[in-house]
Amino acid sequence: MIITSSRCDFIYRSFFMRNFFNNLAYKTSAFMRGRNGVDNLNRLLSGITIVLLILSCFVPYGRYVLLLALIVEGYYLFRVLSKNLYKRQQENMKYMSMTTGIRKKLTLFKNMFRDNGVYKYYKCPNCHSYVRIRKPPRGKKIAVSCYKCHNEFIKRT
Ligand SMILES: [Zn+2]
Repeated sequence: MIITSSRCDFIYRSFFMRNFFNNLAYKTSAFMRGRNGVDNLNRLLSGITIVLLILSCFVPYGRYVLLLALIVEGYYLFRVLSKNLYKRQQENMKYMSMTTGIRKKLTLFKNMFRDNGVYKYYKCPNCHSYVRIRKPPRGKKIAVSCYKCHNEFIKRT
């Protein structure tokens, strides 16, 4: 018996690919049920992986950087697929509390960039918080009052 290509195709599909793409989204969500998935720490890990992958192309001994990227990626996958939710959440909370300061700074810079030309940010000398005011005209002295500690300070614009 001669197996034609269309017959091969039929056998292949019926044995290996049958219903594989049916309900793929449902299957994925069923597979991920009870697993950690992507949290903040995993987002950082995947970011580190991408940076390391790009870096490995340009630095000497790039293969070691590549190895490091694979290790980080492995840890990322382990955390995504892990079923020990309690431990993964503890790790994530620790990471979040450790980076509170940095994340606040990043948010501030992001807001400064967004408000560029509209608002101006001044640091309160008393409590070190940032005060946002509408951008004043240039070359004037203004009194800024802090919203937190109500301290007034003079700034040149
Ligand atoms: Zn203040």
